[in-house]
Amino acid sequence: MINKILVANRGEIALRVICACKELGIRSVAIYSEADRNSLHVRFADEAICIGPPQLALSYLNIPAVISAAEIANVDAIHPGYGLLSENANFAEVCEACHVKFIGPTPDVIRLMGEKEKARAAMKQHGVPILPGSDGVVASAEEAREWARTVDFPVILKATAGGGGRGMRIVRNEDELPALYRQAQSEAAAAFGNGDLYLEKYVEHPRHIEFQVLADEHGNVVSLGERECSIQRRHQKLLEESPSVRMTPELRQEIGDILSKTLSQVGYQNAGTVEFLMDKDTDTDKERRLYFIEMNTRIQVEHPVTEMVTDVDLVKSQIMIAAGEKMADVLHGPIVHRGHAIECRINAEHPEKFTPSAGKITTFNPPGGTGVRIDTAAYAEGTIPPYYDSLIAKLIVRGKDRNEALSRMSRALGMFIVEGIHTTIPLHRRILADPDFLAGNFDTGFIERFLVKKETAR
Ligand code: ADP
Repeated sequence: MINKILVANRGEIALRVICACKELGIRSVAIYSEADRNSLHVRFADEAICIGPPQLALSYLNIPAVISAAEIANVDAIHPGYGLLSENANFAEVCEACHVKFIGPTPDVIRLMGEKEKARAAMKQHGVPILPGSDGVVASAEEAREWARTVDFPVILKATAGGGGRGMRIVRNEDELPALYRQAQSEAAAAFGNGDLYLEKYVEHPRHIEFQVLADEHGNVVSLGERECSIQRRHQKLLEESPSVRMTPELRQEIGDILSKTLSQVGYQNAGTVEFLMDKDTDTDKERRLYFIEMNTRIQVEHPVTEMVTDVDLVKSQIMIAAGEKMADVLHGPIVHRGHAIECRINAEHPEKFTPSAGKITTFNPPGGTGVRIDTAAYAEGTIPPYYDSLIAKLIVRGKDRNEALSRMSRALGMFIVEGIHTTIPLHRRILADPDFLAGNFDTGFIERFLVKKETAR
C-alpha cells in the first residue's frame, strides 16, 4: 500500500506528480531548496520540507538530505520525476535499503540502461534492431578507427554515460577522428565523471521516434505507441507529437510487440521510454527502419502527448504499478489511439540565442479552451531562479487529427503571454508557420536549417 509519497523534484513535474497523488487519494510531500520557497509544488503538496540551499548538489541532488526528508515525513514511496535523481541507480538502492519504494525500475535495470553500450548489447540480444557499431567501449582513437572502417564513415562517437547530447561527436573521415575522439572523451569525463566512449554508424537526416512503455511488477509490459521528437536543437527536444506522420499501424505493432517481449525478459518495471532513430525517407526506399539508441528509465518531459492520445494517466499508472497492481487493473482494457497531440516546450530562454533568461515573471497568461493543456509551475509575479532547468511550461494540445492539432497549437501559442523574461514562445510560433513542419517534412536537422533560413531571409 502507498499512502504517502515524497516528490523528489521541483517545477512542473513535481506539480504533475502532486496532481496524480491528489487524484489517487495519496498524501504528497514536497521537498524544496531555499530558492523555491514560494514555488507552487510547495504550496500544493500536503507537506513540504526545505532540504538545503539553492545549488542542486546541496539540495535536490543531495541524497542524504532527500532521504532524511523521506524519513522525517514517514513516506512509503519516492517519485523522482525526470532529471535530478531519477536515473541514479545508487539513489534507488538507498531508497530500497531505507524501505522506501522507489517509483521506477529496480537499481540493476536502471544501471544496465544507464550504460548505453550495455543497453545496446542487451537490446540486440533480444532482437531489437540497433545500428552497426562497436562491441562495447572503444578504448582508444586507434580502436575507434578500426570500428569506423568496419561500419564505414560517417560514424558518431557517444559517451556510454551520455545524456543531453553531451560527449557526442560526428566523425566524417579518418583524419578528424583522433581530435574528435579526444574532445568527446574530455567532454564526457567533465559532464559525467566517466569518459568512456562507444561508436555507432551515423544516420544522415534521421527522425527521432520513441516508444512509451509501461511494465508492472508481474512481467506484463505494454507499449503505448510512439512520439515523434525530431524537432530538437543541439540534441535537446523542443516540440513533440504523437502519432508520428511516418509511422504505420503495422510498424507500431511490430516494434511494440518486440519491446514488450524484450523488456519483460530484462525484468523491466514501471514507466520507460525506448528511443529510436528512423532512416531518412527516400522515394526509392519506402521501407522505413527504426534503430534503438537508448532507453530512459523514468517518466519523460513529453509524456503528456501520449496521455492525450491514449487517455492513460502515466503518472497515476506509475504509482499504481509501484503499489504492486497488475497491468489489467492499471489500464482497464487495450490501448486505443485517438486523435493527434502536440507539445511545445516553453523554456525561459532567448528564442534565438538560446541563452537562459531567469528573473521575475510580470505577466503570465496561459491559453485555455477545448483540447488545450498546460503543465506548468510558473505564475505571474513568480521568479524563475537561475539555478535550474530552463523549462517553465509545457503547452499541449489535442485535435481530432494533425491539422486540427496544428491550428489549435497556433491559436494557443498566439494567446500565451509571458512578460518579464524571455521565452521560446516566439520560436514555436514561427515553427508552427513553417511549410515543411506543417507538411510533416522534417528530421533531427530541421531546427538548425530553420535558423539558418531565417538568418538569410533578413
Ligand atoms: P543523449 O542521451 O545524449 O540525449 P541520444 O543517444 O539519445 O543521446 O541521442 C540524442 C540525439 O543525437 C538523437 O535524438 C539524434 O538527434 C542524435 N543521434 C544520436 N545517435 C545518432 C546516430 N547514430 N546517427 C544520427 N544521429 C544520432
